[in-house]
Amino acid sequence: MFSKKSQTFKPKKNIQEGSKQYQLKQYAEATLGSGNLRAAVSLPPGEDLNEWLAVNTVDFFNQINMLYGTITEFCTPSECPVMSAGNKYEYHWADGQTVKKAIKVSAPEYVDYLMTWVQSQLDDESIFPSKIGVPFPKNFQPIVKTIFKRLFRVYAHIYHSHFQKIVNLGEEAHLNTSLKHFIFFIQEFNLVDKKELGPLAELIDTLIKN
Ligand code: ZN
Repeated sequence: MFSKKSQTFKPKKNIQEGSKQYQLKQYAEATLGSGNLRAAVSLPPGEDLNEWLAVNTVDFFNQINMLYGTITEFCTPSECPVMSAGNKYEYHWADGQTVKKAIKVSAPEYVDYLMTWVQSQLDDESIFPSKIGVPFPKNFQPIVKTIFKRLFRVYAHIYHSHFQKIVNLGEEAHLNTSLKHFIFFIQEFNLVDKKELGPLAELIDTLIKN
């Protein structure tokens, strides 16, 4: 699936072999292989919703990590002094924990903050338990929603600021498929408000019709 460089921006997050989530990951890969993205996102019969959300959160983190990894050399503080998605959308970073008051940073710094933050959530055993029988926290789904809301901004920035580079790298079909999969997933589980998707609204309409 990843033709050119397989460098990632942050280290790839792995799911422990032999775990329930590993089984679900294999199931997800198999259904994705069928090419029917709508069917591939739906909760497998009899499975736990949180486990399914966890597996797919890790997968999208890895996908976006790799997509952004292909253009990091072009996404620099001088090329992208603000984190934007077109003229109408500009993002300032705050995570509500270590950075409470939003700060205006360049796109590469913003993406670094964002991906580091997502990674810290995925690595936190009290949020994403990897051991069998350890329950997910009560606020698991709100955390997942925040992760998806933020990850979308990386797609939005890539499309608005680096799409030509993606085309030059021959990665546009891969980027479109990844976004389409992401959109189907967030629609299936109602994870992101429609207004957040504004920067790519037209593209999303086109992608989901095809
Ligand atoms: Zn950029």
